[in-house]
Order: sequence, then C-alpha cells, then structure tokens
Amino acid sequence: MTRAVIAFGANLGDREAAIASATREIAEAEGNRLVAVSPVYESAAVRLDGVDPDAPRYLNGVIVIETDLEPHALLDLLQRVETEHGRTRETRWGDRTLDLDLIDLGGLRLSDDRLELPHPRAWERAFVLQPWLDVEPDAEIAGRGPIAALRAEATDEVVRR
Ligand code: ATP
Ligand code: CA
Ligand code: CA
Repeated sequence: MTRAVIAFGANLGDREAAIASATREIAEAEGNRLVAVSPVYESAAVRLDGVDPDAPRYLNGVIVIETDLEPHALLDLLQRVETEHGRTRETRWGDRTLDLDLIDLGGLRLSDDRLELPHPRAWERAFVLQPWLDVEPDAEIAGRGPIAALRAEATDEVVRR
C-alpha cells in the first residue's frame, strides 16, 4: 500500500458535516485504510487577486490514508466525493462545499492533464502544511523539502479550531 495525503477544504454549507462524511467515504472506499485525520483549521478564502476577508471562511485539514488505488483512480474517488457533496466548478478558486486535493502519494512525481503530484501549490500553503505537520511532522514534499521548513516560510494565516 502507498501512503497518501489528502487535503480537504470547505467554505459553504455545513462544513463540519461535509468534512466528516467525506473522511468516512474515503476511509471506507475499497483499497483504502485510514491512518490519520488532522486537527481542523480555519482560514480566509483566497481569490485569484488575493485574500478576501469578506468571503465565507474555510475549514481545512488533511487526511492520511494507505491506499492500493492507482493515482488517477484515487483522484476519481476524490472528485466523486466532491460531486456528491454538491461541489460545483464555476470560477477558479470560487467558494465550495468541499474541495479534496491529492497532496502527496508516496513521494510520486507525475504531471498530466488531470493530475499533478505532489500538488503544485501545497508547498506554500499553511492551511495544508500546518495540519499535515500535526500528523506527520517528518514529512517531505518531493522536490521541495521538509514540510516543517516550508510551514515556517508560509505566510497565510491559519487558526486552530
Ligand atoms: P488548487 O489546485 O490551487 O488548490 P482548486 O482546488 O480550486 O485549486 P479545482 O478546481 O478543485 O482546483 O481542480 C482543478 C483540477 O485540478 C481538477 O480538475 C484536477 O484534474 C486537477 N488536479 C491536478 N492535480 C491535482 C491534485 N494533485 N489534486 C487534485 N486535483 C488535481
Ligand atoms: Ca484546492
Ligand atoms: Ca481541488
């Protein structure tokens, strides 16, 4: 099995409920085993032109699993769970009921039109790095380095729930 780190985010609707049921669905999916769920953090919404203090705030965190799924099959699962939770895609970085990003899959590096690994922006996002650090303090991002050092450099604000 391969260790996978999945980041979740939600800023619309019943955020806690969406995160709880998504975690359960990912954990119970064929080929997956739940390893850890991080504490939940709150963060401001980021738009293409920067932080939007007026937008509904996000709940963020990470789930660590072990999986037998191939990378694209795991992405399919995440997108299916997003859709089940009413995720729509109107504007890039728009508000959403649930976002599930595959951050790391056993250090694999891959890039095609559907999937890039490790996630290309996770390395600079405290709302990913902080919860990940809580559950895997020694983790590294392939090509970027230890998440502890990356977290120290990240400037976006996250508040522990
Ligand atoms: P960001 O990627 O900056 O966090 P986002 O999560 O809002 O932005 P989405 O609209 O959810 O972006 O996803 C756009 C596309 O990104 C998806 O259709 C998916 O195919 C692709 N994608 C590429 N790499 C990944 C990855 N590692 N995890 C999730 N989606 C990915
Ligand atoms: Ca995202
Ligand atoms: Ca996404």
